[in-house]
Amino acid sequence: MNYPYYKCELHLHLDGSLSAKDGWELATTYHIDTGFPDYETFAAHTHVNEKCRDLYQYLKCFDIPLRILQYKETLEECAYRLGCRLAAEHVIYAEVRFAPQQHTKQGMHQEEVVRSVLCGLRHAMQENPIVLQGLLCMMILGEDTQEANCETLRLAKQYLNKGIGGIDLAGAEGIRPMEEFKDLFTEAKRQGIPFSIHAGENGYPKHVQTAIEWGAQRIGHGIHAIADEKLIHQLIEKQIPLEVCYTSNLQCHVFPDETIHPIRKLWDQGVLVTISTDNRSISNTSLDLEYERLAKDFSFHIDELRRSNEIALRHAFLDSKAKAALMQKLNQAIQSI
Ligand SMILES: [Zn+2]
Repeated sequence: MNYPYYKCELHLHLDGSLSAKDGWELATTYHIDTGFPDYETFAAHTHVNEKCRDLYQYLKCFDIPLRILQYKETLEECAYRLGCRLAAEHVIYAEVRFAPQQHTKQGMHQEEVVRSVLCGLRHAMQENPIVLQGLLCMMILGEDTQEANCETLRLAKQYLNKGIGGIDLAGAEGIRPMEEFKDLFTEAKRQGIPFSIHAGENGYPKHVQTAIEWGAQRIGHGIHAIADEKLIHQLIEKQIPLEVCYTSNLQCHVFPDETIHPIRKLWDQGVLVTISTDNRSISNTSLDLEYERLAKDFSFHIDELRRSNEIALRHAFLDSKAKAALMQKLNQAIQSI
């Protein structure tokens, strides 16, 4: 879609946005074994295919970028290239999220991971008209991740407003009881760290309720809130936006039938809906493609997409002065288009 205004993106995973081309190039440069004999086979495995049945299969796609992103150099370069690509797509503000504990398999400490990503994002900002921040994801994994999550929280505090805007909880929703993560968010709230939580993506409207109770300023996905009218009222009343990633939801089959995706309903009821890609590479998408699909499937109009960008910026984990400057730009048409 030829969307003629600047854009804002709040829900974007670093590892899920490493392009096949960049991934292969980095693996070759740094002698990393991808497990694939040639670029074609490798590339075919870097995005989700039509056989994907659910969120758990979708999450398997992260294995390949995570094999490559275990080194300072590859992390920095990946963050830099993503930042440049976003700027080329006229994104003026983005929050790039990543889970430091997922990048420690070759011996890096979480703090080295954070520093490497921030270095790449800073480099992209120096060369492009874009503001970028990182969000640190704590993880829901099969095994106990309490200690690693505590370290992520500590780093979020240390780097807050120094490149990091806040935290998140990511991973396979539903494989662990949400209550296990309550203390982390109680502490985050006490320390004034803003957070969004992946909740109500793969079912579980009650997780959205829990995230609101814990003090989440935004909800990652949150689309299953549609099942609970009271929850919808709360989201509206408390002005908590949803970070909706339409293509990713379709690929993960989070609703049995794609025609019942609730984004239009949520929007029409007055829920603050923002639009993101989730994972540019794994989902093989961009903001323009998301807008195009939403225009086609749910008649989203350019003015509505503009408003969703304003909502996103208003609820970004960014100080009000920086927001005001970006808001001015967001409302101008892009000259070159
Ligand atoms: Zn996500």
